Amino acid sequence: MLDLAIIGGGPAGLTAGLYATRGGLENVVMFEMGLPGGQITQSSEIENYPGIFREEPHLTGMELMEPWPKQCMHFGLKHQMSEVKQVTKEGNIFKIVTDSDTVEAKSVIVCTGSTPKRAGFKGEDEFFGKGVSTCATCDGFFYKDKEVAVLGGGDTALEEALYLANICSKVYLIHRRDSFRAAPPTIKRVENNSKIELILNANIKEAYGNTMGLDGLKIEQNGKEIDLKVPGVFVFVGNNVNNSVLKQDDGSYLCKLNSNGEVIVDLKMRTDIDGLYAAGDIRVDAAKQVVCAAGDGAVAGMSALNYVQEHFND
Ligand code: FAD
Ligand code: NAP
Repeated sequence: MLDLAIIGGGPAGLTAGLYATRGGLENVVMFEMGLPGGQITQSSEIENYPGIFREEPHLTGMELMEPWPKQCMHFGLKHQMSEVKQVTKEGNIFKIVTDSDTVEAKSVIVCTGSTPKRAGFKGEDEFFGKGVSTCATCDGFFYKDKEVAVLGGGDTALEEALYLANICSKVYLIHRRDSFRAAPPTIKRVENNSKIELILNANIKEAYGNTMGLDGLKIEQNGKEIDLKVPGVFVFVGNNVNNSVLKQDDGSYLCKLNSNGEVIVDLKMRTDIDGLYAAGDIRVDAAKQVVCAAGDGAVAGMSALNYVQEHFND
């Protein structure tokens, strides 16, 4: 029986493992279906993780994460390279069903993250990380005093367009309808911002460029084509929350989620199920940043440690 099962080996899962093992839990396994490190390993540049910065060449996400697993394993965290299919609870024991086995655990921290949706236009995948981005906090600064485009009409697209307007010289907000689904005060702020130009009833048909990166976008608006020369486009068309491990056989979820599928937790990363925690991008109101995911992981690791020591004291 594991003291703690951690599902997902990104910044949240790794940090949870570090705090739980270093705090005294002995039998802690992190289930990560790929190499530990999480989605930041796909990023070619990260410059907002405090204390670790390199001007030229930029620090890559892979470089940032490379030492984390070694540090965690030093204190006893074990990595099982399996995909977790389901987490259930019977009595006060959790069952972790993976693609290769079923394991029992006294406590569980779910850190499976979330994945931004892709819009599906031509060139979106080709230029992802080279002009196409899904994170303004991460990449906005690379377009300081330049013109960029934002795609989407929800709260995220409008809030991020406002954020980018503080950094960039101009933001073209492209939306497929003529009305937004964001909150009315946010819509008002966007409409009143002189740096944001709305391109409505419009879709991106193609992102084009060269090996160095994006040169522009071909946009269709009311049957006409617009050529928008921008070096960056931010796509905010919703998120897939990786919560499928919490789905039960009857279709319900093991713990409470919000309407967007994010796990509802309190400030100790506790769900409404005793011994079950969630940390990082999967949780409600996540800032979706490495430093925040790591902070959540630390809190969840300490909470799980206290829970196991209180409830399973031999
Ligand atoms: P993730 O990093 O998503 O890790 C989740 C892990 O769980 C993954 O490794 C996945 O393989 C694993 N997993 C999922 N499901 C299962 C399963 N069923 N079984 C086993 N394993 C599973 N943040 C910043 O702070 N600064 C930046 O500059 C920055 N740039 C970014 C650039 C890009 C291109 C991307 C995609 C993200 C960027 N982010 C940045 C955001 C940052 O990567 C995330 O906020 C952070 O990684 C979230 O950590 P996490 O541990 O919650 O989840
Ligand atoms: P969202 O509300 O689902 O909005 C996605 C937007 O992308 C919609 O405007 C949608 O257009 C558009 N879209 C979807 N697929 C597209 C495609 N293939 N091509 C072009 N456009 C496409 O997603 P979100 O903005 O990320 O928000 C998710 C949830 O979090 C929402 O409940 C939101 O309210 C909440 N949230 C809240 C806050 C806040 O309270 N401050 C901040 C951020 C997010 P249509 O409108 O035509 O469908």
